[in-house]
Amino acid sequence: MRDWAALDKKYIWHPFTQMEEWLGSELLVIDSAEGNYVVDTNDNRYLDGISSLWVNIHGHRKKKIDDAIKRQLDKVAHSTLLGLASTSSIELAEKLVGITPRNLTKVFYSDSGSTAVEVGLKIAFQYWRNVGFDEKRFFLTLSDAYHGDTIGSVSLGGIDLFHSIFHPLLFNTLTIPAPFPYRYPNLTPEQCKEMSLDHLKKIVNERGHEIAAMVMEPLVQGAAGMIVHPEGYLREVANICRSNCILLVCDEVATGFGRTGKMFAVEHENVEPDILCLAKGLSGGYLPLAATLVSDKIFEAFLGKYTDYKTFFHGHSYTGNALACAAACAALDIFEEERVMESLPQKIECLRKELASQIAPLPWVADVRQCGFMVGIEIAEHVAARKAFPVEFRIGHQIILDVRKAGVILRPLGDVLVLMPPLSITEDEIRYLVGAAAQSIRNVCSNPKPFSL
Ligand SMILES: *Cc1c(COP(=O)(O)O)cnc(C)c1O
Repeated sequence: MRDWAALDKKYIWHPFTQMEEWLGSELLVIDSAEGNYVVDTNDNRYLDGISSLWVNIHGHRKKKIDDAIKRQLDKVAHSTLLGLASTSSIELAEKLVGITPRNLTKVFYSDSGSTAVEVGLKIAFQYWRNVGFDEKRFFLTLSDAYHGDTIGSVSLGGIDLFHSIFHPLLFNTLTIPAPFPYRYPNLTPEQCKEMSLDHLKKIVNERGHEIAAMVMEPLVQGAAGMIVHPEGYLREVANICRSNCILLVCDEVATGFGRTGKMFAVEHENVEPDILCLAKGLSGGYLPLAATLVSDKIFEAFLGKYTDYKTFFHGHSYTGNALACAAACAALDIFEEERVMESLPQKIECLRKELASQIAPLPWVADVRQCGFMVGIEIAEHVAARKAFPVEFRIGHQIILDVRKAGVILRPLGDVLVLMPPLSITEDEIRYLVGAAAQSIRNVCSNPKPFSL
């Protein structure tokens, strides 16, 4: 067998990774997968506790998706949407319009969550130019937002660790504090919600005429550490935007496709965003694919003669890739055929119970946040004082290395341990996943040391 680890270290620069540390560490090299497990080059199986970074929703090597891709491969792998139409992209667009909020009628494809957001923000910006409101040029965002890693989506983001270095390259946004109850221990969730909404109302009163759109992750801010918004927040934000002529762009890249217990997070509060960004789970976690959906109102503002210059000049080489669209069609069919949404409430309840009994009582767990299949476990050195472990302990990282010994793959967000299993996980596997996480928190935190290789 080839020395995969050595070759990786020779050739690959990994994302979000301190490569000096990587080069000195032992690597886990994945070679295959089956169902809810990935398999390494030594034939060890690991429960995929983060759905291969939040994308794989029906498990790996799902026959229906595999077959759809093979069938598509016998027809065509890719043809361009610039100047040509294609059957699989049409089929998927019809399905997406059918399952998303009723006002959304048109689908613009791209390749990743970041580009889905770039497309959404460029459409929102140009919309106001096309209808003659040139002063509407600012975006409203939430603190701690994450919308991707390209410069436009980073501009909308507010996670300093990732974003501050690029500050000179970014455009300015208007930001309000996210309703994050954990951060405001003196406020009830309801007061926290009102505090955030008061900021929103104030800024909308003062600058509403300059604001093109509010961009937000509805219900759960994933990369921020699974911040779950208080109930009713999204509804109120949508109302305020609607009555002040501010477009609402919902980034459901993380929350979409069943993650929150409904197909889309906006359904929880009956919100119809003007623009909806989708990626991650869209292709079942198989191929890079994203979609930005818009309403008729938005679409129609781009219609005119060529010489009116209302065209949306944006597109990627692989826009609407046929293999990816075929995978996505199959992934959506599985939701119906296997009644996936109907199976979720019981699994979500099982996850809730396990978290309450095995995780919440641990002395290093400061907060357990759950919305459906999205879980964030806040680890702290002193829970009562909410005092974090020193950065050099890299406590989250130590925990996910420890849990590998129990055959579980996790990836933390700093000191927040994330559980984001495939929707196809069984209740037995949920119990195993939570039990293993609890044991690793105990193993690492009961005798904490600075991280070393
Ligand atoms: C992951 C994520 C993105 C970026 O998606 P990529 O496919 O990694 O570019 C954007 N928004 C949210 C909410 C995400 O969770």
